[in-house]
Amino acid sequence: MSNNEAVKKMTGMMAAFIEYAAKHLPDDVYARLRELQAEEDNPLAREIYDLMFRNLDLAVELDRPTCQDTGFMQFWIKCGSGFPLIAELEELLTEALRRATAKAPLRFNVVETFDEENTGTNTGTGAPTFWWDIIPGWDGCEIYTYNAGGGCSLPGHAMVLMPGQGYEAVVEFVMERMTSYGLNACPPLYVGVGIGTSVETAALNAKHALMRPIGTHNENEKAALLEKLLEDGINEIGFGPQGMGGKHSVLGVNVENTARHPACMGVAVAVSCWVHRRGHLVFDRDLNCEVSTHSGFAYEGVIGNSGDSSDAPACTDNSKKGGRE
Ligand code: SF4
Repeated sequence: MSNNEAVKKMTGMMAAFIEYAAKHLPDDVYARLRELQAEEDNPLAREIYDLMFRNLDLAVELDRPTCQDTGFMQFWIKCGSGFPLIAELEELLTEALRRATAKAPLRFNVVETFDEENTGTNTGTGAPTFWWDIIPGWDGCEIYTYNAGGGCSLPGHAMVLMPGQGYEAVVEFVMERMTSYGLNACPPLYVGVGIGTSVETAALNAKHALMRPIGTHNENEKAALLEKLLEDGINEIGFGPQGMGGKHSVLGVNVENTARHPACMGVAVAVSCWVHRRGHLVFDRDLNCEVSTHSGFAYEGVIGNSGDSSDAPACTDNSKKGGRE
């Protein structure tokens, strides 16, 4: 396959995936919502979960996004230094987003700061967002996609704690954000907590925490305990689905951390909502691709097929209601 053909193929595949992920929840999010509904005994909360699932069914039936706010697109790329399309990745992902925006369609959610003009393409200055990790000696590429909605981005916050403030202050920081802004983010929430030295390291750790599958835990036992305590504490607020009251406020709480300066502890919280739209794809150098988040997604010409079908980038819903009934 020539370089041009490879770019065309990956662009078509990513455009189809971005569209699909706007219309279908990740498998783990759907399953967790079912669990929360089953554990709920508040009649209004159960009714709201029913409406959420009705919403998801209609999104598939009518071929529409799961929420009117289709978000601001963010990509976290963990790219092998030997991946053949490393130089073309940002451009092809931007083009894939333009195509998905027109075809899905996705709401125009990119406004140029200060000019206050909507670009109408979901692309613009620094948009979409790209975070890069280069993996030396690997020839594959791992891509996380995330649609950052307005409401669910609202509780996001980062600060550096005063020297001497400890992990109790991390809990206080997270709970203050949850009790003041959590309701705006369409619960049940997915909460990412980041700890590092400075605000930007903490914030990036918090975002990475949101990319973890639901039900996973930090490998450090103390961090895993903090996840559990925060989850219990936020559930105690009693948001319930859409903030109407109920047993559960969150889909989960994840903590990600890096080593820090001994005098400083940067802490950040990043929040996602009940339609937690994250995707995860892994490509090998020949563009064979595995999608871990959406088992219903198939794309002719990419998975198990060497033909180039990027002129017909239809994403295939090969499972009625996402294969979940
Ligand atoms: S918080 Fe989530 S569900 Fe609510 S409007 Fe925003 S994107 Fe949609």
